[in-house]
Amino acid sequence: MARTVLVTGGNRGIGLAIAQAFAKQGDRVAVTHRGSNVPDGLFGVQCDITDSSAVDAAFTFVENELGPVEVLVANAGITDDTLLMRMSDEQFERVIDTNLTGAFRCAKRASSKMLRAKWGRIVFISSVVGLYGGPGQVNYAASKAGLVGMARSITRELGSRNITANVVAPGFIETEMTAVLPDSRKAEIIKAVPAGRLAATDEVAAAVTFLASDSAAYISGAVLPVDGGLGMGH
Ligand code: NDP
Repeated sequence: MARTVLVTGGNRGIGLAIAQAFAKQGDRVAVTHRGSNVPDGLFGVQCDITDSSAVDAAFTFVENELGPVEVLVANAGITDDTLLMRMSDEQFERVIDTNLTGAFRCAKRASSKMLRAKWGRIVFISSVVGLYGGPGQVNYAASKAGLVGMARSITRELGSRNITANVVAPGFIETEMTAVLPDSRKAEIIKAVPAGRLAATDEVAAAVTFLASDSAAYISGAVLPVDGGLGMGH
């Protein structure tokens, strides 16, 4: 059955691969963007997830055009890396506000319609760094670890209403976010990953579409790593 899916940050990178995977299986897919063009075949809605009223307006727009959001993929995220000693309050708060509070704003807005429908799927895109840690990533790792507690609390609140909330924790994926890493850092990462390579974005998308499927109805509060073995259970 076709569903209405909203992917935040679905205009590029991992989010785009996720959106395209849902579209390929026949779902109605909306993606948020912040003024960029949206690739053909996807329904774009402008939204900055750090702004609650923009999130509300984006959901209302999608509801009017495609129907209530049945699958939310909270994917939009940023990094602002530096060592703890040098990290400003602003750098810490900006990353938390986007990656963690932004996901909260979207999940909260989605939940009322999911409750009414007595069905819903929420997938948070975290990171291996959330549970493994990463030097220079105190802000990012804290935001990504927070998504685990968020998914598990939502599971406890809404689990009896056919609403699941899960976390996908990608390792290192070929996107613009990792393209900026120095070659020396990339070589170190590849050495540490048992799979011996970075992943393609559609390898993350496959995990997300599975968690949103009817087959995954009994999986909730889980953290599914897509990291080539890097986190090894973390
Ligand atoms: P990109 O940098 O390629 O894309 C980030 C996306 O997030 C863009 O669509 C961007 O929109 C959107 N975004 C950022 N800030 C906001 C905001 N305030 N409001 C709305 N949208 C926003 O990232 P990736 O595709 O690499 O990453 C996607 C997710 O996967 C992120 O949460 C990231 O932390 C996570 N991840 C990535 C890994 C990797 O190796 N790449 C590994 C593990 C996790 P815009 O185009 O408008 O800037």
